[in-house]
Amino acid sequence: MYARPPRYPWAWVVWFSAAQIGGVLAMACFSWAFGLALILGTQALLFWATLWPQSRLLSPVLVQLPASARSVWLTIDDGPSDDTLAVLELLDRYAAKACFFLVGERAAAQPQLVAEIVRRGHEIGNHSATHPEKWFWALPPRAMRAQIALAQQTLTALAGYPPRWFRAVVGMANPFVAAALKPLGLTRVAWCARGFDAREADSERVVARISLGLRPGAILLLHEGAPHGRSVAIIGAVLTHLAREGYSCTLPGCELDGLRSNTAAAAEPK
Ligand SMILES: [Zn+2]
Repeated sequence: MYARPPRYPWAWVVWFSAAQIGGVLAMACFSWAFGLALILGTQALLFWATLWPQSRLLSPVLVQLPASARSVWLTIDDGPSDDTLAVLELLDRYAAKACFFLVGERAAAQPQLVAEIVRRGHEIGNHSATHPEKWFWALPPRAMRAQIALAQQTLTALAGYPPRWFRAVVGMANPFVAAALKPLGLTRVAWCARGFDAREADSERVVARISLGLRPGAILLLHEGAPHGRSVAIIGAVLTHLAREGYSCTLPGCELDGLRSNTAAAAEPK
C-alpha cells in the first residue's frame, strides 16, 4: 500500500548523483559508452518517473485501493466550477461519495461551492494553487512548494480541515513534489481508470475507457468544468454505468488505517 506521505523525499538525489558520478568515472577510466549510457539512462529514468503518473520511483502514490466489495473511489479534478452544484446533485441521486481535487485559486473565488461539497459529505483534495498545466512538471523546488502549500492553506481555511490527498497537475509529479508533500502530510493520488473526459466530450467513449480499468477498489479520474461543457452529462453516464455494474462510490475508510472514514453505498437513482 502507498497510502502515506513521502518519508524520504530526497532519496532520489543519492542514486541519481551516484549514477552521474559513476558515469563520469566510467567514461574517464573504463568505458566511454558505458559511462554515457549510465548518465543518460538515469536522466531518462528521472524524466519517465516525472511524466508517468503511476510511477513510485520519486514518491509513494496511491493508484488503487484494497477492496473486497464492489466499490470504487470517484475523484473529480479541476473544480470548483460552474458544474459543481449539478455534479453534487447527481452524486446525491446516486448516493455516491466523491473526492473533489480542487484548485486553490478557483476555490477561493467560489468558497460557497467548497462549503457545499463538504456539507454534503464529500472530501476535498489538493490539486495545486493555480493549475499550471503546461509547466507543473517542470517547476523548480520553490515554485512547486508554493503551488502545493498555498493551495493547502486556502483549502484548509475553506473546508475547515486540511486535505490529506494531493493530485499532481496532469498527473505529472517531478522530483520536487515529494519534498513539498511531506511537511503537509499529503499523500499523492493517481488513478487506475480514466476516461480522458477533460478533452473527450462523448460520454459513451468516456464510459468505455473507464470500464477498462474498472475493478473493486479502482480509483476513477473524472473532471468538472471541461471546456466542452459536457462534464455533468459524462459524470452522470459514468454513475449510471457504475450502478448498473453493481459498484458503489465510497471514500477511503477503514481499509486505510487512520484515514478519514466517510462512505456511502451507491444505489440506482431515486
Ligand atoms: Zn487538473
